[in-house]
Amino acid sequence: MTLLSLEGVEAGYGPLQILWGIDLDVAAGETVLLLGANSAGKTTLLRTIIGLIACRGGTIRFEGEALQMLAPDQRIRRGIAFMSELGVFPSLSIEENIRLGGYFLDRATVRQRSDRLFEMFPDLAKKRRHAAATLSGGQRKMLGIAKVLVSEPRLLLMDEPSSGLAPVFVKQVIKILQTAIGAGTALLIAEQNVAFLELADRGYLIDGGRVRLSGTRAQLEASTAVREAYFGL
Ligand code: ATP
Repeated sequence: MTLLSLEGVEAGYGPLQILWGIDLDVAAGETVLLLGANSAGKTTLLRTIIGLIACRGGTIRFEGEALQMLAPDQRIRRGIAFMSELGVFPSLSIEENIRLGGYFLDRATVRQRSDRLFEMFPDLAKKRRHAAATLSGGQRKMLGIAKVLVSEPRLLLMDEPSSGLAPVFVKQVIKILQTAIGAGTALLIAEQNVAFLELADRGYLIDGGRVRLSGTRAQLEASTAVREAYFGL
């Protein structure tokens, strides 16, 4: 079943048009990778889907409903979550950050889900009352993930989950995401790190605000464009 469907999406900043007619689909429970170099438009696309940037042309549908006129918080309530590159508020405690992720849920639900997340992330549990600023880069990324998982989204948009992380943490992030996928969450991940292809069912290569290529993981791995850009071949 199609969860998210984009047709001819256009967006930009002021007079600057960045996205030029993006067509893209994500099915329920599916993991889709957005690959592309710096400035390709990946972040702009995720921000347009969650509503931080206006969609100037085309349509964005979630479970068949057009999203363009809805504010970001209304999109969140419908089951979409967005994890930006920054992800957490450093001056707030770990608990407070997680609570923010479920700001529209009742307290009991947030407490119950936080307890479950703390079992998944023991490093965070140990420091639950400390400011997020005291965490290492890898732990902050984990907190960013815990913060978005508390809302139990059906679609999680992630902007460069590997940015600023040592390779060992990238592996950990991938493992955590695999757990999230097990729970039935669809993922749309913008990444320059091709290691994330191993997670993906399908992917899109974005270039100059357009879809240059799309296909299954195997098709992308075999494509000359991806091999040239990411495997140095
Ligand atoms: P990166 O990996 O660097 O984040 P990206 O694929 O996510 O790359 P975007 O961040 O979407 O790319 O940027 C696409 C284009 O939009 C770039 O040319 C960038 O300079 C421009 N851009 C991004 N944010 C703004 C902004 N707030 N105002 C004007 N232009 C912007």
